[in-house]
Amino acid sequence: MHIAALAGGIGGARFLRGLRQHLAARDDEWAGADITVIGNTADDITLFGLRVCPDLDTVMYTLGGGIHEEQGWGRAEETFTVSAELAAYEVPPDWFTLGDRDIATHIVRTQMLRAGWSLTDVTAALCSRWQPGVRLLPMSDDPVETHVVVLDDSGTREALHFQEWWVREQAKRAAQEFVYLGAAEAKPTSAVLDALRDADVVLLPPSNPVVSIGTILEVPGIGDALRGATASVVGVSPIIGGAPVRGMADACLAAIGVETSAAAVASHYGARIAGGMLDGWLVAEEDAPTPVPVGVVQRSRPLLMTTVEDAAAIAGAALDLAIDLRR
Ligand code: GDP
Ligand code: CA
Repeated sequence: MHIAALAGGIGGARFLRGLRQHLAARDDEWAGADITVIGNTADDITLFGLRVCPDLDTVMYTLGGGIHEEQGWGRAEETFTVSAELAAYEVPPDWFTLGDRDIATHIVRTQMLRAGWSLTDVTAALCSRWQPGVRLLPMSDDPVETHVVVLDDSGTREALHFQEWWVREQAKRAAQEFVYLGAAEAKPTSAVLDALRDADVVLLPPSNPVVSIGTILEVPGIGDALRGATASVVGVSPIIGGAPVRGMADACLAAIGVETSAAAVASHYGARIAGGMLDGWLVAEEDAPTPVPVGVVQRSRPLLMTTVEDAAAIAGAALDLAIDLRR
């Protein structure tokens, strides 16, 4: 059996780690299912000449056992000697955390990209060390970068790289608009399209609907592949009780005019029978029953991923719903 999943960073990674654990405990034909992850690369940024792919790395480190658990991103047992030296030279930027261990990943990636490798092949090479137990694919080998339009003090529109807005400014200035640079020209890789075509089920983890799942769907062809897939498609709500659990997804949803609720996100994704993305929607108990588009089947359960066991139970419920909805 083949499972495909779209994923951003922490929400995607924790769900996928749960899914892997859930599959290992199953005793039906899904026990041996393979998982292909289509990762968001629109958060990627070049810093100090190094190509940084935060969401791919969060998935790779989380599934590979190298993640800083409490933080949810970056390496465990990290040190910051290089960053401190850069600060001593007063070389900016100083707002994006780059640990020494993490920098090694970015050096390897940058070196291989410069030598002509595709990001898909670079990611596979990095994963040969981490053995995440999934096939991790960037959504495209072409660069796509989310930029955020905000207003400066005089009310003039100004565009920032997503990371400047998210990390440096903590999303404090209201986003007027998201611009996905490079998205219109980007091509999905054949590996991504094949994974969606061959999947028996497609899962949308509780990743950010705008700047994680939304950006993956901005790559021409991926939305159509999802809409046309023979697989059933089930999403897990990233909103619990009207609030994003971690991070500032509400600031992203507000910018595209979507309310921060499980119902509004489901309606934003839409029902596949009406040209949208979802056959099933897993919501938190406190949000159930939630109004969902006609043609979307909803189930509810606790959705907080505190432990790996919690995430495994959530992933199991999402998979069970997807299996029940297979046509
Ligand atoms: P990022 O790229 O690191 O921001 O991570 P993602 O886009 O993959 O996921 C971020 C989203 O995960 C946030 O907007 C939260 O709403 C959601 N999230 C984080 N932790 C949990 C959790 O425990 N349960 C659920 N349901 N959603 C979560
Ligand atoms: Ca991200």
